[in-house]
Amino acid sequence: MSADLHRSRTAATVAALASGNEHRFTSKRVLLTGDRDALLTANGADMARAALQLLMRISDNVDVALPLLSGSLGTDLARDGERFAWDRAPQFVACDGDWSGYDAILSIGSSVRADLPWTAMTANGWIASVTSGARGIAADCSRPNPITALAAASLGVCEVFKRLIELRPELGELLDGSVLSLWDHTLGGSEGPDIPAKLEADLMVNGAGAIGSAIAHLLARLPRVGELTVVDKQDYGPENWGTCLDLERSQVGQPKAEIVAHRLQPGGSVRGLNTTIKAATKDHFGAVTRWPEIVLNGLDGIDARHDAQEIWPDLVIDGALDADLQVRVSAHEWASDRACLRCLYQHPPGELAVVKQMRDTGLSWASLQNQDRPLTEQDVAAADPARQAGLRSRLGRTVCSIVTEDGARAMSRSQLDEGFSPSVPFAACFSACLVVTELVRYLITGEVGVRPLWQVSMLIGPDTAQMLPDKRHADCRCRHRELIDKVRASCIG
Ligand SMILES: [Zn+2]
Repeated sequence: MSADLHRSRTAATVAALASGNEHRFTSKRVLLTGDRDALLTANGADMARAALQLLMRISDNVDVALPLLSGSLGTDLARDGERFAWDRAPQFVACDGDWSGYDAILSIGSSVRADLPWTAMTANGWIASVTSGARGIAADCSRPNPITALAAASLGVCEVFKRLIELRPELGELLDGSVLSLWDHTLGGSEGPDIPAKLEADLMVNGAGAIGSAIAHLLARLPRVGELTVVDKQDYGPENWGTCLDLERSQVGQPKAEIVAHRLQPGGSVRGLNTTIKAATKDHFGAVTRWPEIVLNGLDGIDARHDAQEIWPDLVIDGALDADLQVRVSAHEWASDRACLRCLYQHPPGELAVVKQMRDTGLSWASLQNQDRPLTEQDVAAADPARQAGLRSRLGRTVCSIVTEDGARAMSRSQLDEGFSPSVPFAACFSACLVVTELVRYLITGEVGVRPLWQVSMLIGPDTAQMLPDKRHADCRCRHRELIDKVRASCIG
């Protein structure tokens, strides 16, 4: 397993979704190509470069076939291929070769070849179009929008993924002429406004994993002005390479927040903090930098979401995804009456601390009632039989120290398991696109479009999307508006 740790999270997803031969999916043959006119647009180049990276992270066997291009795209793709490879960089092949041996072909532009396992994609304004079937899509890619380009690439690579893993038919199917407007969340909707010349706000990005990396990828392509703080307490592990856009193999072992901040702009108004959200809130905001107006989350835990909400900024936007590739974006504007992240994301019915301690240590309920005393033979006799030998070796130490030690061990075990928790890079990227769409919308219009939560299944397709309304919950602290207004006034100043 350790040899394949870099694809462990994708493999965990595949195991749940594939028809059978899922262990073979990384060695199947994939081709990236495109129409000359589409590739020469800014959207076409963005789609090609994002799609190449995403394909490399799910497959060992990616080829690229480009028509004759003026400009730097060919060089950029070759350089990206070397830079982001785990082992094998993609091979460049001729456009007029025999393509019948490929298991999936992803093409930028509207051309379709019905005799091949072909997916075509385009991006124009806020409209992402993808087809793997008989229905054609519009060729126009002329209105630049890096968010839509990444969204189209994510949807396109998801189509490749469905083919490679032979997705179980009851879980989803290939898209046929899907046209999604990110701007109004509808199929066949509007192209929406242009990206403005300047997007000004003090931002915090929480989490520099799969979703956070893709949020940063997009922020780097937008005309952003203002302070930006990236917060993540972890270092990159090999499993992150399989899901994080722009992560190089040589960066495994380094602090996530610093790597991502460095990509955005070293020094200056961008900072990476290798710490927790709570510590950043307490020690950093208001002291070292201004209090963030907008918080963007790419987190995978409930507590971290609650900590991010507790910053009580003007706006929190949160990206999320499930193992079955359900992708979500939610937003809480402080001025609105809609549910906050504390309302939306709740722990399962509370577990008593002592029950967790019993599970962590193997000690009995009675033994854990007084912890400021040495562990006795009587405690060991009453403990879980499977844990008695380990506990006996610690006789005489305080119960309290055993609870602390075994609690930490249980936590590191669960963090280790995170490396194998299901995730795929293209779903994380799509989630990031939804988050950054809401950021741009808010900065253009003063409002968000998700009230408060919008979700879509990448397996079934954009026509499953739904808006889920929710008001502030009666038992949530976001109802104490006056109190929080005072906190906001004192912090934001
Ligand atoms: Zn709430």
